[in-house]
Amino acid sequence: MADLYCQYTDTAGSIDKAIKEVIANSDFIKGEAVGELESRLAGLLDTKHCITCGNGTDALFISMMATGIGQGDEVIVPAFSFGAVAEAVALLGGTPVFADVEADTFNMSADSAERMITPRTKAIVPVHLFGQPCDMAAINDMAARHGLTVIEDNAQSLGSECFFPDGTRKYSGTAGHIGCTSFFPSKPLGCFGDGGAMFTDDDRLAERMRALSNHGQIRKYNHLHVGVNSRLDTIQAAVLLAKLGHIGEWTAKRRKAAEYYTAGLAGLDGTIITPAAPPHGTHVYHQYTIRLTDGNSRDALKNKLAEAGIPSMIYYPMPLTEQPAYKNICLSDRGVTQAAKLSETVLSLPMHSGLKKEHQDTIIGVIRQFCRGG
Ligand SMILES: *Cc1c(COP(=O)(O)O)cnc(C)c1O
Repeated sequence: MADLYCQYTDTAGSIDKAIKEVIANSDFIKGEAVGELESRLAGLLDTKHCITCGNGTDALFISMMATGIGQGDEVIVPAFSFGAVAEAVALLGGTPVFADVEADTFNMSADSAERMITPRTKAIVPVHLFGQPCDMAAINDMAARHGLTVIEDNAQSLGSECFFPDGTRKYSGTAGHIGCTSFFPSKPLGCFGDGGAMFTDDDRLAERMRALSNHGQIRKYNHLHVGVNSRLDTIQAAVLLAKLGHIGEWTAKRRKAAEYYTAGLAGLDGTIITPAAPPHGTHVYHQYTIRLTDGNSRDALKNKLAEAGIPSMIYYPMPLTEQPAYKNICLSDRGVTQAAKLSETVLSLPMHSGLKKEHQDTIIGVIRQFCRGG
């Protein structure tokens, strides 16, 4: 699905050198590379602060701690996503409230989210799914009208841009109050283990998040808050710094591969719907996710591809409202029909910067044959 080794070969020796340097300095925790990565990432995304942490889930958790989410607070999250977003809310004693998503973008619907607002709602977490930004203009507008904090989950979309009606653009993860990302190996910018980061323009929130991720300390042995231990290892920061210069090139390659799929799968509308041109921003194609017109054909196509030795994945096979951990904290009158439908009809095809045209031709061939009933 994702060829991680090709990114290593692309960086030709600079990763090895960076790791050896960390070992030579033995500054494994809070070493030089961590600070350098934070300032380079903040510069790259044109935002004031970047605070790295242990992983993307911690980034969500620490952001919510910093905004004061606690017992009885409601946080609106999409019903169609990875579970980390609901987990962070629930671990803080809050209630994740699930909004429905848009069928064509897979992203949280601002209208559905607005219908979920109650006097207890404190924050909203738009997830930029599969590499494509949410409608941040609509979400920010709605959040401002209701006084909500906007925490973006940008784990899958680092480098994509959000469009605003006045013509301005902002990088995803810098359009709300706080943006969170993950450096899990298969994400758009991945390290060699776990890692994450938070972004904000707000000095007060930045200071809080930095302290919270380091045992709530504002200085060594001065614990102002009850915090956590969640840091990015220096070795991981060094790996990320070595990869940073390649992001643009890898994104361009994924975009090309996505175009090639879309052209190759054209005209199959009766059976397959290819990803729509993103209406609210630019797409970095973390995933290339097609929809089938019915659930039975989705599973049959997945099997056909597997028979031909082609991997495919179902992200995500169940809306979060159906997950055992969250089922009982959902309110039954709040339908998430699109999320449920998507979980039965989506299929993600292999997508990475090293994808070859010949490989894509084989995949396209299997899918076209399947659609012809073969
Ligand atoms: C990967 C991911 C996370 C969690 O990141 P980790 O670094 O694995 O903790 C959160 N949200 C989304 C949408 C993700 O894809």
